[in-house]
Amino acid sequence: MKSENFETIAIRTQVERSLHKEHSSPIYLTSSYKFDDAEEMRALFANEKEGNVYSRYANPSTSEFIEKMCLLEGAEDGFATATGMAAIFTTFGAFLKNGDHIISSRSVFGSTHQLLTNVFSKWGVTFDYADLDKPEDWEGLIKPNTKMIFVETPSNPGIDIIDLEFLGDLAKKHNQLLVVDNCFATPYLQQPIALGAHISIHSATKYIDGQGRVLGGIILGSKALITEVMNFARHSGPSLSPFNAWILSKSLETLAVRMDRHCENALKVAEYLEKHPKIKLVKYPFLPSHPQYEIAKKQMKQGGGVVTVVVEGGVAGAGKFMDGLKMFSISANLADTRSIATHPATSTHSKLTEEERNIVGIEQGSVRLSIGLEHINDIIADIEQALNTP
Ligand SMILES: *Cc1c(COP(=O)(O)O)cnc(C)c1O
Repeated sequence: MKSENFETIAIRTQVERSLHKEHSSPIYLTSSYKFDDAEEMRALFANEKEGNVYSRYANPSTSEFIEKMCLLEGAEDGFATATGMAAIFTTFGAFLKNGDHIISSRSVFGSTHQLLTNVFSKWGVTFDYADLDKPEDWEGLIKPNTKMIFVETPSNPGIDIIDLEFLGDLAKKHNQLLVVDNCFATPYLQQPIALGAHISIHSATKYIDGQGRVLGGIILGSKALITEVMNFARHSGPSLSPFNAWILSKSLETLAVRMDRHCENALKVAEYLEKHPKIKLVKYPFLPSHPQYEIAKKQMKQGGGVVTVVVEGGVAGAGKFMDGLKMFSISANLADTRSIATHPATSTHSKLTEEERNIVGIEQGSVRLSIGLEHINDIIADIEQALNTP
């Protein structure tokens, strides 16, 4: 039975059962595969026949994870990587060459910023940053050698949003690749390809695992684009391990119910914090006070699990709040079942200059709250006692 429904696809997409008729998919821990004869080996290497050759290229556990993600995200094909950064690096590596130019949203994950400023710049790729809240600026930054538009929405940790349909039209008009880091939204909340993106990237380490266990990433797009990704990845070797792929495929079975609860809890926290006198600013996509609320409502199913706040009192205020938390973990990760508090200015975004941080809305008092799946009363009680500590 073929289903159109997210939950059913996430649970019922499975690789073919083995001789043992297992109910749950096994892990295929194998680096390589046997060929029936010399002719089969030749045909597989010549791409005349489909089948597994070597786990750097493909593995049944990885293929199951990719197939699910393609169906959930509306992509024709995908390639799974060891980490989210490997997915971003591989995408840049596959499509950019010396002399090309990228326009990127200014507010990007700290390591993506490092790739642009310190790695691809060495290889002659230039970039310009544009602001998510100023869509009118983007077209003016396009140059004859602009090859790619890269964007994170919602952004980490600023929780800014841009209209993906608008960027999809822009990329189409100027014949560029629109690449979206869809990590914060997951395919359950936002499907960039349907909105005009060519490629959607995830750090599967975040909500797709959602339980803080493994690292992983994935690149999704059309068959033709993923073939180009594959040609680069086959030889550079960023592949996801079969064990992690198995975990991630299992995790997808519960993504919908987990995201529903993350979003429900996060909205309640955002509404609570918005009224608190020690909080200067709350950024959450589904709060009507969010500057891009209407766009968020249009392109996202719910607001996600991350709330970014600015605490009164700068770095000291943020530190006091974080140290006062008794249940929240202080960690650099996010998207776990456990609620997490992070101080971006001194951790994930410490490599940015103060000026760069100000532009992307990271203040000394900014704290990123990744709202977990604990009981909402405990989450709010912990925040309340930490903010009210004299
Ligand atoms: C965490 C993260 C990444 C990097 O993913 P890793 O799996 O840690 O390599 C990329 N983009 C965003 C938005 C992230 O939050």
